[in-house]
Amino acid sequence: MIRGIKGVKDLLPEETPRWRFIEETARRWADRYGFHEIRIPIFEVTTLFARSIGASTDIVEKEMYTFQDRDGSSLTLRPEGTAGTVRAYIEHNRAAVPVPQKYFYFGPMFRHERPQAGRLRQFHQFGVESLGMADPRADVEVIALLWRILSNLGLQGLTLEINNLGYPADRDSYRPHLVTYLRQYESSLCANCQRRIEANPLRVLDCKVPECRAMTETAPRLADSLSEAAQAYFTGVLHGLDVIHIPYSLNHRLVRGLDYYNLTTFEVTATNLGAQNAVGAGGRYDGLVETLSGPPTPAIGFAVGLERIAMLLPESALRTTAANVVVYIAAFGDQGSGVGLSALEDLRASGIPAVSDFRSSTLKSHLRQADRLACGFTLILGDDEVQKGTAILRNMVTKSQYDLPLSSLPVAIQPLLRSS
Ligand code: ATP
Ligand code: MG
Repeated sequence: MIRGIKGVKDLLPEETPRWRFIEETARRWADRYGFHEIRIPIFEVTTLFARSIGASTDIVEKEMYTFQDRDGSSLTLRPEGTAGTVRAYIEHNRAAVPVPQKYFYFGPMFRHERPQAGRLRQFHQFGVESLGMADPRADVEVIALLWRILSNLGLQGLTLEINNLGYPADRDSYRPHLVTYLRQYESSLCANCQRRIEANPLRVLDCKVPECRAMTETAPRLADSLSEAAQAYFTGVLHGLDVIHIPYSLNHRLVRGLDYYNLTTFEVTATNLGAQNAVGAGGRYDGLVETLSGPPTPAIGFAVGLERIAMLLPESALRTTAANVVVYIAAFGDQGSGVGLSALEDLRASGIPAVSDFRSSTLKSHLRQADRLACGFTLILGDDEVQKGTAILRNMVTKSQYDLPLSSLPVAIQPLLRSS
């Protein structure tokens, strides 16, 4: 037997309604906020990710699915959606379009990580990117969209954490202070963090290892090295969130794993997700478009993990979406079978979901399948009915039955389905 790949999951039909519900909710809110869908490729040249995400990040260092194409070029399965979206923005000269470019995307992402609950090698994200506006209200708009989607889905126990990463110059002046501090305690840091002191010292701040956390509790804080401009910008964002009543909590450790962030950075965590408690995260990335050889373009975005949202989605959220009434066609006998095939098509053509199990040849076995398929109605069509030019509609709950004329089946059936 050939099995699926480790950390790569199938979504069986029982689970897809949850996913559709999540996707439809996200789409609806994205529309309301004026974001438009973009569909970008699943693989890109490797340098796109190496250059945008940053060489010393976990993703680029050890998580990418990179392979050689037949012509020898290096390609990578996308580990996230921002790099490809920005590549498309530059390639199609969207900076020349005189309105803000606000995109959303859905799709699979690929990272070679240790699979566990809430952590897969092929996982799915919904994300948005707002390109072109350097205004705290653009940050507020993006964060509000994230918060509305998650709240509207009925997810419980969520916290929005937010931090100010300042401008690159702010971090440049802060970094030596942090490095000096970390060097003092180098031996008590985890191996990963010891390596990070050189490569990416800010990442030490959000290490989850308790010893590292204890060590960095008294480390110098970026907040104390921020320029006035960076502080003013962040105050504007927090003020905007207050005005529209989005609750947040400040987290000075929040630095994010990707190199391209500046100023506003945020993450939504859930108390009941266990170790993988991040639902989604994002931030401002004003330098990225230029890094990828595009025109200077301020930007901000977020991405949420759909697997983690699906884990958090309460059953009650789904029950509010009433399923369509489905009609089961119980056709049997020589003539009944043929007429049943037409009836299936006629109902579907007039917008009524209709199914049958073509393995069943008796009324009894048809009715059992109708129950198993949770069909609200069964249309009974045997040779006798065909002779009379009728079909019998059976309400599977009340068991009441109605004779319907075969000649105008869809029209006759409609009011009966609606009154159920
Ligand atoms: P984490 O701290 O969980 O590793 P991250 O910082 O690597 O998250 P991002 O790159 O910010 O994650 O991606 C945004 C969201 O995508 C995460 O908050 C999470 O919900 C989801 N996500 C990231 N990696 C995975 C994965 N391997 N499997 C499932 N979901 C993931
Ligand atoms: Mg990660």
